[in-house]
Amino acid sequence: MGCIENKSAPAAGDGKSGKDFNPFEIMEPRPPSKTPADRKFGKHVKANDIPPEGVYLPNNNYLAPHMKSPEFVQLSNAAAITLGIMDGRMYRCECTRCLNLLLTYPEGCRANCAYCGLARHREADRDYADRNFIRVDWPAVPMSDIVDIVAKDPDNSPFHRMCISMITHPRSEDDTFTVLKQWTDRIDPEAIPVSILSNPTTMTRDDVQRTRDLGADIFTVALDAATPDVFDRTRGKGVQSPHKWSRYWEIMLDAKDIFGPQKFGAHIIVGMGETEYEVLKLVQELVDLGGHSHMFCFFPEQGSLMDHLPATPRDQWRRVQLARYLIDYRDVRVEHMKFDELGRVKSYGISDAELSDVIDAGIAFRTSGCPGKFQDDVSACDRPYGDSPPSDIASYPFQPKKKDIKQIRKQLDIPVSVE
Ligand code: SF4
Repeated sequence: MGCIENKSAPAAGDGKSGKDFNPFEIMEPRPPSKTPADRKFGKHVKANDIPPEGVYLPNNNYLAPHMKSPEFVQLSNAAAITLGIMDGRMYRCECTRCLNLLLTYPEGCRANCAYCGLARHREADRDYADRNFIRVDWPAVPMSDIVDIVAKDPDNSPFHRMCISMITHPRSEDDTFTVLKQWTDRIDPEAIPVSILSNPTTMTRDDVQRTRDLGADIFTVALDAATPDVFDRTRGKGVQSPHKWSRYWEIMLDAKDIFGPQKFGAHIIVGMGETEYEVLKLVQELVDLGGHSHMFCFFPEQGSLMDHLPATPRDQWRRVQLARYLIDYRDVRVEHMKFDELGRVKSYGISDAELSDVIDAGIAFRTSGCPGKFQDDVSACDRPYGDSPPSDIASYPFQPKKKDIKQIRKQLDIPVSVE
């Protein structure tokens, strides 16, 4: 299987709820346990004085206290393979089109989001640089090495976009500016545009403006939860985490003003206890504001506070993927769709023939995110197997083939008609 397969991958919708969706009642994170004092804030990592050397491959036993942003960033396995600094192959993908970067510090992210592999509670048993995030490892590399490689020929780079993911850390704004500037000083953002995946909890409107001034193209907010209740339970006071739904919206509306239409949006994870109607109402709200939604299928990340919960059943996920695509790119409105008493999509607001064409085109089921150079509805950010194992793909990081569409139609419970 692909080089980034996670060893223990719970099945999607394993029947825990007995339903074809993940209801709010069962999606309760476990409480975080107490971190021993000698493991807090990366203390035992900082107690060492080992200099970082070249590419750091996560291995859980090499303590490198100086490996921190802005000099160092982590990048996804897929990006490291595409950049040529790591060996490996990806199942049915030649490369990734997005260079996803993550700020890094020995003390790690100071938030505690229940679904996230980078969360603070993990300092009890795993160093920050060794933590899995969206199912894959994130090697650490000097930022200057990355820029040197890409700057050689940006116009012919496999990457159609670069993205800086901020984390919750007192240095993350300043370091984001430095990393962004280091990139735009050497690489024309017209050749490879830059997105910012922001952390609103520590940001101001001026910070948003600064990312724009330094050449960022799209600004997104990792809202992740689709409702205020799910947000509080998974990344607010429910898990001793500092985030607030209202703050995320304030910064997103700042981004709307500063970046303009089609240049801002929100990440949403589907299947953490919201209904299909609730998440699609949010998708509609974002479209009405002029923005986009980037969807992730909930997967129980190993080591997270939700690793005991079922992945989103494929039925629920496919319905939401399809409906979201219609709202985002085909001018269908949530009010045109029909939902049952449990909030599940019952009809999509267009004719069967049109719906069939959209399904067979397959784009609705690809990974969603910021666009690349192919077309507006094809995301550069393909995140290979970031929300599912390759054996049961949720977001397709490639154009689905006929056999994939047959499988998708079965999951949607819509008769197979692909020739
Ligand atoms: S703020 Fe982001 S990186 Fe930090 S725990 Fe939450 S989701 Fe993970």
